[in-house]
Amino acid sequence: ADWNWFCNGQDGVSIAYKPERSFSSHIWRGYNEGLLVYILGLGSKTHALPADSYHGWTRDYRTKTIFGIEFTRYVMVAVGTVFLHVLLRNKGLAYLLTTALVLFQTISGAALDWNNNLLRFADTPAFTYSDMNGFGPFVAGIVWFKLYWGAFTVLLVALSAGLWVRGRAGSGRAFRWAELRQSFTPTLRAVVASSLVAWLGLGGWIYYNVAVRNEYRTKADEQALQVDYEKQYKRYEHAPQPRVTTVNLHVDLTPEARAVRVQGQLTLTNKTSQPLDTLRLSYGDYLQDYQFTAPGARLVRHDQRLHFCTFALRPALAPGDSLPLTYAAHYQAQGFENKVSRPLINGNGTFLNNFDLAPTIGYSRLLELESPTDRAKFHLPARPRLAARNAPGARANSYISTDADRLRFEATVSTSPDQLAVAPGSLLREWQQHGRRYFHYRLAAPVLNFYAITSARYAVRREHLHGVALEIYYHPAHPYNLDRMMRALRNSVTYYSAQFGAYPQQQARIIEFPRYQSFAQAFPGTMPYSESLGFIAQVSDQDNDIDRTYRVVAHELAHQWWAHQVVGAAVQGATFMSESVAEYLSLVMVERQYGPDRTRQVRRYALDRYLQGRAGETERELPLLYNEDQPHIHYAKGAVVLYALRSYLGEARLHGALAQFLHDYQGRPAPYPTSDDLYGYLLRATPDSLHYFVHDQLKRITLYDNQVQDVAYQRLPDGRYQVIVQLEVHKRYADQLGKETEAPLHDYIDVALVGAGKQVLYRQRVLVTTPRKVLRLTVPALPHQAVIDPDFLLVDRRLEDNSRAAVEIGQLPNQ
Ligand SMILES: [Zn+2]
Repeated sequence: ADWNWFCNGQDGVSIAYKPERSFSSHIWRGYNEGLLVYILGLGSKTHALPADSYHGWTRDYRTKTIFGIEFTRYVMVAVGTVFLHVLLRNKGLAYLLTTALVLFQTISGAALDWNNNLLRFADTPAFTYSDMNGFGPFVAGIVWFKLYWGAFTVLLVALSAGLWVRGRAGSGRAFRWAELRQSFTPTLRAVVASSLVAWLGLGGWIYYNVAVRNEYRTKADEQALQVDYEKQYKRYEHAPQPRVTTVNLHVDLTPEARAVRVQGQLTLTNKTSQPLDTLRLSYGDYLQDYQFTAPGARLVRHDQRLHFCTFALRPALAPGDSLPLTYAAHYQAQGFENKVSRPLINGNGTFLNNFDLAPTIGYSRLLELESPTDRAKFHLPARPRLAARNAPGARANSYISTDADRLRFEATVSTSPDQLAVAPGSLLREWQQHGRRYFHYRLAAPVLNFYAITSARYAVRREHLHGVALEIYYHPAHPYNLDRMMRALRNSVTYYSAQFGAYPQQQARIIEFPRYQSFAQAFPGTMPYSESLGFIAQVSDQDNDIDRTYRVVAHELAHQWWAHQVVGAAVQGATFMSESVAEYLSLVMVERQYGPDRTRQVRRYALDRYLQGRAGETERELPLLYNEDQPHIHYAKGAVVLYALRSYLGEARLHGALAQFLHDYQGRPAPYPTSDDLYGYLLRATPDSLHYFVHDQLKRITLYDNQVQDVAYQRLPDGRYQVIVQLEVHKRYADQLGKETEAPLHDYIDVALVGAGKQVLYRQRVLVTTPRKVLRLTVPALPHQAVIDPDFLLVDRRLEDNSRAAVEIGQLPNQ
């Protein structure tokens, strides 16, 4: 084997080579089965790997992780094992006990909710390494727990040395007091005593940090809080409350101390037709010591445990009137925890959103326990993933917010002088004061109650596009995909503006944040992006890689229209109007940039994802139009189906209907639209002959089983070819539980005949009315293959039988 060729010019051996796709851009790295590849490669007499492939092989490893955290842990486990052997003097028993203890510790965390590192031998808090923020907030906990278990390990070493069997003693021999007195020398006794004292002392210090300076909570404790919150306050879910109409925040970040101080002013407006005499607030777990003040509001009850406040309003807030609510709250990381619970504010890379920064008016459904199993355990009633479309009050809120329609947003953020702080809106002013750096942002137009604040030592790439500032705030060590991201921003703003109306903000910003969370999110004009998502992705054009970075930017930017301008009511199907449309549009952008072949890969993947997702359904599946916020439906099936609609209806009709719907519902407050409203626009844009298609795709779960059964051809005297294609088509409707029934056919399906060099000899959308369909065709050249639904526009679980090679016959039947 030519191992150097297999490196493909990179610093390690490529993970795969396929003739049709060339090298994989992934490289065998690290301690796994790939090690064998290197052993073989280094031993080659003729094409040996170069010595520096060692660096390629170890490149993923960080010395601190391997030797500081992992290696020391294994040393401790080894010492513990030796100690058990020495203590028990019975090889079999010691081996059994070691195995049992290791197994118990491995499964007990999740199974028994037993995660206290003080009791878990050699364990330290879980951590995530971030390029932006290093080991950041995880360092203190890891170091102290390492010292604690280190002292315990020294104790075990000393005890093992003292208990060690000297001479030719047999297994299972009992300890003798006289021997022990002799083997525990004064030095050894001193080591035992001092390591014991150190271990207990460190234990005390850790306990103080974990359980006194911080609150130690098990998963069960946290669930109990959620359950009590729901049980006590759910009754206020639909109680009329004023709504937030302006947000003005003063946020002081001290990244190096992991501290934040927030002073907020909210305007609450009574949009109901009755006076409101009670104000209720919920707030999250992050900021502490909330203090609220509002003129005429008297605090009746502040439930500190469940974070719920009730105020009496005297006089009552009259319809149409507003109330300024001022609050102050703060967070300051204290010592260290058993597990870092809030890596939101960090030395480099802070990311706080509206739920972290401000209270919610009234009861918040988002704080409820979700898992059906956990709910049953606590005797909570079943909880629909999303409300039904006809549920009372269902259209009163968008799915983004329970306490606001659109609001005016403004924020002043201060941070360390070497950092840039970013919030939605235009930067009105930036200044320095008392050694801190201040930024004042304001949004020109009202937005959804959905915003975030970030701060880090950023570098910025800027461009301008027809009055829109395109900006990327990035970690200076991550410049790899800036061109790609900028291109995606430019192209998406241009294309979407042409299709759906002007870009609604003055900025389109991408902002990097540490990989403690791994998503991208679209706030008004600002799109925080995890460093793990697009910034460090390696995309190889040569490999036909799907440019996920480009696609995610196109998706998030589509939300500036599809969510921020028109947003669905918090009912089934809400995300069809945002996630499905955004995912489809990202596909369109990929197609415009890279050609239709690349979208085939993406759609193939999406189709698999949908089919896999529905196979794992635990409750019930609803049609795309009424999906319950499930990623495999609203993203994957959404993209596949809308792409098919474009093919059947034509882009002008589909995009025209979307644009008209957006125009009609843009910026509207409650009652919010449902996907049925959009359905009306789509149906009106559809010719009668295709109404069935829109209905099947959106309002039903429709599965096709399409096959080419036979392809036979015969050369005609004039040099052309006569071909008979036999198709087998089944369409089935699945109900919510997956039960399928055969559906009658009156369906248009693409059929193609392909010749040498993939030349298309015939391609038509044919009408199929019976499961068996025979096509008799005359084509100008030798056919190689017939394909049904060649662009796999239809959801078909077996694509392998959609094509078949053509076979020559001597005599055509039925002539
Ligand atoms: Zn999205």
